Amino acid sequence: MTRRTKTPRKLLVKKGSQTSLKDPVGVYCRVRPLSLPDQECCIEVINNTTVQLHTPEGYRLNRNGDYKETQYSFKQVFGTHTTQKELFDVVANPLVDDLIHGKNGLLFTYGVTGSGKTHTMTGSPGEGGLLPRCLDMIFNSIGTFQAKRYVFKSNDRNSMDIQCEVDALLERQKREAMPNPKTPSGKRQVDPEFADMINVQEFCKAEEVDEDSVYGVFVSYIEIYNNYIYDLLEEVPFDPIKPKPPQSKLLREDKNHNMYVAGCTEVEVKSTEEAFEVFWRGQKKRRIANTHLNRESSRSHSVFNIKLVQAPLDADGDNVLQEKEQITISQLSLVDLAGSERTNRTKAEGNRLREAGNINQSLMTLRTCMEVLRENQMYGTNKMVPYRDSKLTHLFKNYFDGEGKVRMIVCVNPKAEDYEESLQVMRFAEVTQEVEVARPIDRAICGLTPGRRYRNQARGGPVGDEPLVTEVVLQSFPPLPSCELLDINDEQTLPRLIEALEKRHHLRQMMIEEFHKQSITFKALLQEFDNAVLNKENYIQGKLNEKEKVISGQKLEIERLEKKNKTLEYKIEILEKTTTIYEEDKRTLQQELEAQNQKLQRQFSDKRRLEARLQGMVTETTMKWEKECERRVAAKQLEMQNKLWVKDEKLKQLKAIVTEPKAEKPERPSRERDREKVTQRAVSPSPVPNAPPIRLRHRRSRSAGDRWVDHKPASNVQTETVMQPHVPHAITVSVANEKALAKCEKYMLTHQELASDGEIETKLIKVKTNLHRTKNIQNVNFTKNHLIFYSFDDTQVVSTKINGC
Ligand code: ADP
Ligand code: MG
Repeated sequence: MTRRTKTPRKLLVKKGSQTSLKDPVGVYCRVRPLSLPDQECCIEVINNTTVQLHTPEGYRLNRNGDYKETQYSFKQVFGTHTTQKELFDVVANPLVDDLIHGKNGLLFTYGVTGSGKTHTMTGSPGEGGLLPRCLDMIFNSIGTFQAKRYVFKSNDRNSMDIQCEVDALLERQKREAMPNPKTPSGKRQVDPEFADMINVQEFCKAEEVDEDSVYGVFVSYIEIYNNYIYDLLEEVPFDPIKPKPPQSKLLREDKNHNMYVAGCTEVEVKSTEEAFEVFWRGQKKRRIANTHLNRESSRSHSVFNIKLVQAPLDADGDNVLQEKEQITISQLSLVDLAGSERTNRTKAEGNRLREAGNINQSLMTLRTCMEVLRENQMYGTNKMVPYRDSKLTHLFKNYFDGEGKVRMIVCVNPKAEDYEESLQVMRFAEVTQEVEVARPIDRAICGLTPGRRYRNQARGGPVGDEPLVTEVVLQSFPPLPSCELLDINDEQTLPRLIEALEKRHHLRQMMIEEFHKQSITFKALLQEFDNAVLNKENYIQGKLNEKEKVISGQKLEIERLEKKNKTLEYKIEILEKTTTIYEEDKRTLQQELEAQNQKLQRQFSDKRRLEARLQGMVTETTMKWEKECERRVAAKQLEMQNKLWVKDEKLKQLKAIVTEPKAEKPERPSRERDREKVTQRAVSPSPVPNAPPIRLRHRRSRSAGDRWVDHKPASNVQTETVMQPHVPHAITVSVANEKALAKCEKYMLTHQELASDGEIETKLIKVKTNLHRTKNIQNVNFTKNHLIFYSFDDTQVVSTKINGC
């Protein structure tokens, strides 16, 4: 189905507004040529005010849509063959004209990425865009009427200060003396690419430039990215180690309620080249920032501001009038907007998507503002326009709310892929051109009489047809009567002549007097002027002296700082050397530490091994000793069992003795004798004649086995006891004799000690020993029921417990 429609242009209902004082936003359309000749096209230029969009084939197939043709009207449409000059003449030329006549203007390009916005605004090599052309027209128009540099000074309140030429000259000298490569004066390196763009062949100039004013041009260049404003002309010292991210700027309102970027750099420029060079610098900075911060250039809005300052000349026409109130400032903002495409087209993700969202947000806000403005204007409503929702609209609030000329160039690429986006662009254009903006009022710059600029030149210049002063003076003299005497009786001619001459003489006298007076006045004036000049000279001299003092002071300061710098450099060098030494020391110490650590580690592991080994040895020894002890216990048990058996045998023998009748023995009444008997009876394993032979485990030869060692220490006291033990075959010794012990198996010790009742108690201790196997017996002692044999070195050799004596 084919449908042909034309968007209807609604009639504006204007309430309370004077039609004559408002102009709609001028919306123009530029269609760029296709990149490839065989590309599918979806836009056609119908005539110089209408374009037609049609649904491309691919789009219909994909979306299953109908074929549609829609026409859109513009103030003017520029086809694919339009030159930059043609576009400039129609769109930008009137804005520059307005600028020069003190009126503001806003020109922006709108469209999707690749539709030719930058080509239109900045241009391409060989085809300078609107921006260089605007600059060229401005400088062509005000060229000879420009104020000296620094006569105008921009301040941070969005207004201008003015200073006298002498101060401006001093400032120029001061700035030129500064070693800043970016000072506008001096030789500049010309970038061939931009030189190609500003090489505008066509000469263009504004009409009726006020010649009685002086002009200054200031440019600023900002970028709005992600709803942040960045100054592209700000001179930030570049730190290659840690590059600083750009600082964003804030918007402020000045005392006239105009929005401006606070602290934004405004550069005074004196020619197209200089201005474009400044722009190019900003452009480069923008590119670097985009690459550095991984930003997409098509996603930022750029605003190039041209501020024209004009101030009237004084009454004499030589100097600028030093009255701030007389300054007129007008501004032309050239805006290259970000691509208007929706986010999904660029397939952005993450941060980029958010940023893109913000950019679209600012364009969306622009659209909303246009819609609300149109609605308010059409239906007389008073809805709040959301300028503050984005930096872009907030900055340009005054253009829509205040007065000025707003023009928009809608750029479109006719290729089929852009169809959907181009539709959106067209719709926005439709809304925008129905918005009206107050027309700026024509103001007289100054109430002074025109023609002041050349007045002085006229006074002192060549006279031309004007009569000479002397002639005028002579003409004011009374005419001389005829002095011809024709009659001798003529008495009138001479007196008349005399009278006339007298009058002339009188007049001459008067004139001489007047001349003298005038010359005196003039001399006084001259004197006054001389004095004034002298004063001025003195004043300048004083200022120069002051400045010289400042300069010499600064020179001294520089010298001091240089010295300090040298000292610091020297210190740094020393510190660096020290650092190197310390580092080396550190390295050596670290190595040493590592070696010690390793050694320690080794020692530790050695210790562990030794410990393990000792542990092993301890266990082994313990086991060995346990076994030994067990063995000894077993041997002891055996020995004890033997003893027990021997005792049993003896007991049996004793029993036999007791039971057998015996011959009576003589009585011994003494207590000593009784005790001895008891003792003998209890302890003595003494051989009894009738006792059965003792079965010993180790039967030795009879001579050794049966023999006794009768040990009677020499220290013993003679007791005179009747019952003296009689031991046959006994070897009697007074000291523990090793030899004797070796020969005998039985040992008898006669031991005496002091009893508790003070009497000497004699004990006979008889043991069956195996002392013959023990060597080195030197001494014997009986204490606490223990019979202990000692060797030569007093070490205990054998200890036997005696249960009874
Ligand atoms: P945008 O700024 O809208 O993204 P550009 O201005 O960068 O687009 O244009 C993209 C490319 O198209 C550039 O290479 C430019 O030279 C070219 N171009 C755009 N408009 C035109 C035109 N009217 N004539 C010739 N080339 C154009
Ligand atoms: Mg661009």
